[in-house]
Amino acid sequence: MKEMLLVRYGEIALKGKNIRTFERKLISNIKKAISDIPDTIIHDQRGRVVIEHELQDQEALIKAVTKVFGIVSVSPATRLDRDIETIKEGCLALLKKMIDENEVKSFKVEARRADKHYPLNSPEINQTVGGYLFKNLQPIRVDVNHPEVVIHIEIRDYAYVFIRKIPGLGGMPYGSAGKGMLLLSGGIDSPVAGYLMARRGLELEAVHFHSFPFTSERAMEKVIDLAKRLTYYTENLRIHSINILEIQKAINEHCPSEESTILARSFMMKIAERLSETSRCKALITGENLGQVASQTIEGLTVTNSMVEIPVFRPLIAYDKNDIIDVAKKIDTFETSILPFEDCCTIFLPDRVVTKPRLEKIEASLSNLDIDALIDEAIKQKEAIIVVKGEITSRFFPNLNV
Ligand code: ATP
Ligand code: MG
Repeated sequence: MKEMLLVRYGEIALKGKNIRTFERKLISNIKKAISDIPDTIIHDQRGRVVIEHELQDQEALIKAVTKVFGIVSVSPATRLDRDIETIKEGCLALLKKMIDENEVKSFKVEARRADKHYPLNSPEINQTVGGYLFKNLQPIRVDVNHPEVVIHIEIRDYAYVFIRKIPGLGGMPYGSAGKGMLLLSGGIDSPVAGYLMARRGLELEAVHFHSFPFTSERAMEKVIDLAKRLTYYTENLRIHSINILEIQKAINEHCPSEESTILARSFMMKIAERLSETSRCKALITGENLGQVASQTIEGLTVTNSMVEIPVFRPLIAYDKNDIIDVAKKIDTFETSILPFEDCCTIFLPDRVVTKPRLEKIEASLSNLDIDALIDEAIKQKEAIIVVKGEITSRFFPNLNV
């Protein structure tokens, strides 16, 4: 008899020939997620992962595993030899423990055979084990329609018996879909956008734009805090921190003031695309959302889109704000996001903002500027911050000899 955690994954089972690649990625992600938990052995059973352990309290293991993207559900299970007498005794112990802890009045047994050579079929296992439990634990009833407790028996290489099924986050294994560059502001939306794309298997790298000293150190700390929270799911995250103050000054000096926000946004897209080349990111990710603020009109989005050739993923495009907030609370970024620190977009904020910018006009304004030189200089000054499991592990200026 051994304690196990059964791990189920759904969608990746649909991947045909690629399934092994996905399974390997999932298993390596599970390994990373539970690396701090001692004495665990991961068994790759093709179509199912089983984690063997000797823990008294498995809640920490369950918590660590259920945050791994790609997992549909997990069940703490007891592994037994396959003979029916052993299964009967194992189920009896399990249900007895359940009755001792809670008031349980009804149950049913639900068997599944992954191995069809097993001498009893599923209804026969249900009857044999159900009858035995009933006989030994009366007055408990068998209720096949609305049981309070379902005892699951899965016949595979061994018999696995379990009661609980704890949902996972679903999605695809992190890193199985390539890599994307997240434009991470200090707001509510962009961390949620990053989380949603990470859950679809996209590995993240992040870029943040600031206007130090007009924006403060504390505003930067807030963004780092959001990144730390994202590493709960991604394990690690590199942030490129870019000062765009000189760009904003140039825009202010040479372009119509009502365009300053959309022009600054255009530079952000271009810089993010440039960083993507060296970081091998194949898409940008933003928290843009149709209609949320004046700049997020179809016309505004058309402009930001046209600034780059790389695809731009906007997972929140159709979300209501309340739905975004729900996710932000679930992933624990909301409280940080609402801290009231200034953002680079709020400095130089003009009295009037274009809400329906015309691409030709924006391009004409951009032609007043030496775009490449401004971008080169901003990238040269960039700071890199690497966060691993909620801690900064390094912080440096990769392009400066200091
Ligand atoms: P958020 O809550 O994510 O800040 P928002 O509703 O404030 O979004 P905007 O300020 O219009 O919306 O920004 C739209 C998107 O542009 C953001 O979701 C983010 O992806 C990107 N962005 C905006 N400001 C910055 C910044 N300073 N650094 C990096 N990305 C930014
Ligand atoms: Mg913002």
